[in-house]
Amino acid sequence: SPLQKQLHATVRSIAGLAGGLGLLFLLLGWLVAGLSFVEALVFFIGLFVANVPEGLLPTVTLSLAMGVTRMAKRHALVKNLPAVETLGCTTVICCDKTGTLTQNLMMVQRLYVDGRLVEVSGIGYQPRGEFSVDGRALSLDEISRWVSLRRLLECSFICNNAHLEKSGSDYRVLGDPTEGALVCLAGKAGLRGSHQRLHVNPFESVRKRMSVVIKLEGQNRKTVYAKGAPLETLQRCDRILRHGEVRSLDDPERKRIVEENDAMAGRGLRVLALAYRDDPELQELSSYSADEMETRLVFLGLAAMTDPIRLEVPEAIRACHSAGIRVIMITGDYPLTAASIGQQIGLGDGGPLKIMTGAEISEMTDEKLRAMLAEGESIFARVAPEHKLRIVSLLKEMGEIVAVTGDGVNDAPALKKADIGIAMGVRGNDVAKEAAHMILTDDNFGSIVAAIEEGRAIFDNIKRFAAYVLNSNPHEMYPYIVWMLFPGMPLAMTVMGVLAVDVGTDLIPAMGLGIEPPEKGIMERPPRRQDEKLLSLKFILRSYFVQGSLLAFSCYATYYYMGWVSGYWHPGLSLASMPPSPQGLKFNEASQPYLQSLTAYFFPTVTTQIANVLTKRSAKTSLFGKDFLNPWYRRELLQAVAGWTPPRYIARVKIDYHVSG
Ligand code: ADP
Ligand code: MG
Repeated sequence: SPLQKQLHATVRSIAGLAGGLGLLFLLLGWLVAGLSFVEALVFFIGLFVANVPEGLLPTVTLSLAMGVTRMAKRHALVKNLPAVETLGCTTVICCDKTGTLTQNLMMVQRLYVDGRLVEVSGIGYQPRGEFSVDGRALSLDEISRWVSLRRLLECSFICNNAHLEKSGSDYRVLGDPTEGALVCLAGKAGLRGSHQRLHVNPFESVRKRMSVVIKLEGQNRKTVYAKGAPLETLQRCDRILRHGEVRSLDDPERKRIVEENDAMAGRGLRVLALAYRDDPELQELSSYSADEMETRLVFLGLAAMTDPIRLEVPEAIRACHSAGIRVIMITGDYPLTAASIGQQIGLGDGGPLKIMTGAEISEMTDEKLRAMLAEGESIFARVAPEHKLRIVSLLKEMGEIVAVTGDGVNDAPALKKADIGIAMGVRGNDVAKEAAHMILTDDNFGSIVAAIEEGRAIFDNIKRFAAYVLNSNPHEMYPYIVWMLFPGMPLAMTVMGVLAVDVGTDLIPAMGLGIEPPEKGIMERPPRRQDEKLLSLKFILRSYFVQGSLLAFSCYATYYYMGWVSGYWHPGLSLASMPPSPQGLKFNEASQPYLQSLTAYFFPTVTTQIANVLTKRSAKTSLFGKDFLNPWYRRELLQAVAGWTPPRYIARVKIDYHVSG
């Protein structure tokens, strides 16, 4: 993942810095300053330890793990840690429509049968509602006498694998919501009866159809019921049921059906065609292959269902736009339906929306498709899984970091290919979940955006940590450098001091930085470039040499002040006449004033670090603008360690301040 690459580079440069400086001073101490080799080696260890960020490993792991936990609370389960951070670099989201951008709460709203439009009312999946034509409600009796309508309802009930289940006063669907809507439709007409199912040709996103072969109760005749995408199903029909009579399906009739379909799809409705056959040839057929069953069908009508958009999606799309992330809709649904939904959720950000179908992109060369994908947002409709894979592969070749959603078995290759494959937890197939890097427990597009925000926060946190560690290292280094360069100058911090500071202030507070929640405005900047360095040269120079040196000088100030007060040192005292500091490690021989001076260096080292860790929490807002302690230290730590949830007033320090004028 991008993070792993950056960490490799960072670790290498820090190891080089630590080892190089350590070796340099080992040689200087041994050959120039006249230390014994063992003493020089001890200083080498001191310098080396001072520079190595011991906290990096626990901080990175902890911040990823905390990120995963926070994402889980926001309905995104991440399967491997590094994937978390890759999310933060996402530049393009290729997203399904049904269920991810929409609620997948289907309800059949309108039927087209016998050349007439039938409106259907109702709420959710409750099998209660009215059928009306031209504003006049039909009685159940009228419905059962209307042959074509009854047949259509039979088809929607029989060619179906979904069930409605009553839970409390509400109904929910077991199975595909598209099919649930059709079961519900049949329920509204009070349809009853039983049949024997001989065979099922399940729905496939390539065929875009499903069919069943049945025998009705008390009959010996086989009947095929089929339903599927309108144009694809219409191709397979050669007759139509009109006022109870089977007629041949002529071209003007076909044209009318397509127009009706387009009108309904243009309003964002999801349209399915229903058909059947029970001709004599069928009775003869011995195999039940989809190809043989789904041909010479009798067209029954169209069923158009609403699938309202998820309320939070327009907001999430806006967030993507301000975060510089493009959203590309890839759906199996009809172009007009997809375009209408795309408009409702604000895809394209006011600009023109490009709409392509799977058939169109099959004809395109890679160059042309690449040019199309290069900018703006687009919709790909009536696509098959292999088109999805091609789009993802091209986007990746173009250097985009691609997140892809998927729910079916056929989506697995695209999910694997993507930088982040996202499977749907509710709708998704186990194969898709297995292939994905992340699973959405609520199938919601908004959760992807939330996860991207967390992913960005993680990189920020690791960067904060790196800045903090680089700031703290010069504190520990300068005493050795000064001691080496000015012979006779007492050592301001001992090796023990370095180790104590490393464990005490480098490790534990730094882990706090690793788990800062996402900062405000984090989704208002463009995605991080994948090759953006965790440690750039400018960043190292500023953190290490400028900020770090400043902090170290403040420690030297108290060191000399204390030395002065304790009579160990006073201004104007030449270095040569200073009382000698104990050589090497024999501190038990050290004088009281020297020990006091050591303390005077050590103490600000610790306090400046604590102040520093608090200010490092945000590069932009003031310390006083944030909560004084970060939430994890406030609560989870106490909970984890003491099994006790702190009351807010102990855990939280609120500082009110006023600036007059
Ligand atoms: P999406 O879910 O993105 O709309 P699908 O590939 O699942 O894409 O569906 C493609 C088309 O197939 C739909 O627009 C619809 O017309 C039809 N369809 C979907 N589900 C079923 C089903 N269970 N039975 C028959 N046809 C279906
Ligand atoms: Mg689907």
